[in-house]
Amino acid sequence: MEFNADLHIHGLYSRATSRNMTIKTLAKESGRKGMSLLATGDCLHSKWLAEVKAADKVDDGTFELEGTRFILSTEVEAAKRVHHLIYFPSISAVEGFKESVSKFSTNLEADGRPNIKLDGEELAMRAQDVEAYIGPAHAFTPWTGMYAHYGSLEECYGSMASHVKFLELGLSADSSYGDLIRELADITFLTNSDAHSPYAIRLAREFNTIRAKDMTFDEVMKAIKREKGRKFVLNVGLPPQEGKYNETACPRCFEHYTLEEAVARRWRCSCRGVIKKGVRDRAKELSDDGVVRRPAHRPDYIHIIPLGEIINQALGISSPYTKKGLATWERLITEFGNEVKVLLEVDISAIRELAGKEVAEGVEAFRTGKVVIIPGGGGEYGKVLLPGKSIGMEQKASKKKKDGQMTLMDSYKEK
Ligand SMILES: [Zn+2]
Ligand SMILES: [Zn+2]
Repeated sequence: MEFNADLHIHGLYSRATSRNMTIKTLAKESGRKGMSLLATGDCLHSKWLAEVKAADKVDDGTFELEGTRFILSTEVEAAKRVHHLIYFPSISAVEGFKESVSKFSTNLEADGRPNIKLDGEELAMRAQDVEAYIGPAHAFTPWTGMYAHYGSLEECYGSMASHVKFLELGLSADSSYGDLIRELADITFLTNSDAHSPYAIRLAREFNTIRAKDMTFDEVMKAIKREKGRKFVLNVGLPPQEGKYNETACPRCFEHYTLEEAVARRWRCSCRGVIKKGVRDRAKELSDDGVVRRPAHRPDYIHIIPLGEIINQALGISSPYTKKGLATWERLITEFGNEVKVLLEVDISAIRELAGKEVAEGVEAFRTGKVVIIPGGGGEYGKVLLPGKSIGMEQKASKKKKDGQMTLMDSYKEK
């Protein structure tokens, strides 16, 4: 079987997370985004774990609520503020791990994504002790990505580096960034939303399609390790330019710089802010020769943008949570089942009938690669522009053009 999975989200006990981020809401919303399986996130937090336990148990490491499967996971912030993802085989593994790290953390019950004062190697050893799997979260992002602080998996995970089987690309990168780096040839790339809100624009804005025998912890881990025919068959995510750390830029005024410009300015912006190295420049820097080498096992990467963003652009709505936009989204999902179908499969004429000419043209522009992206950087998301909807943005767009503005259909596909 093949199914869609979002393997990195946060519950309501993480900081800056929607109060509505409950297992119940997630179970309800995930199907409408076309997801069958989610990783719980935040499983070291007792109250969140209690919500997971209240769902039906499929096996020791897999739970189900209203048709959505959940596997146990957490993100932690460790030495140098680097973020790691950990997947656990059972509740008892979660509890064992929690005990082994408890004296290195002061906020296990205060933050869904706790800080643990251990380096990558020590953390990986403790994960290994309970048969959990660990790897870097959003590996290239400034401040908290592994590659922001380390030059290699070995520098971060030491003697445990060979146990790392996956790496999360993060919203500002796609597989072509990872395949610039030789040491990642054998690693499975994850594309996850890192959502802090259960609603359409955030949840599953990135996801993985997995081929396995069942939707369980064991099967997902086998797919990560590519054992016995199990594998990731597709990575789906935002165009990396839409991510908020894609280009090198100033986090204070969001002026963008090339790497050379930033170096020449000694990383000082004209506003005197400190310029942050973008994900694109960091990935290039980590490459021996700037050549993208795609290993045979690497799945295609498809770029999508949230349907809600297309709707809002098409209808000229500025806030993602206005009633009109949500109502239109709701109508399409109720009729066609889930967002992936509407974005990629449903007949344009059927969309026109239900959501109007503007939205239908927006989806068509997305499918035919006519959507333009103004790259993000310095913590500011990139912007999606539908044709003819670029009022006020043209200037910035033309300024960035020299840097190879991209269209959505520059996907990472075989031939
Ligand atoms: Zn993180
Ligand atoms: Zn600045």
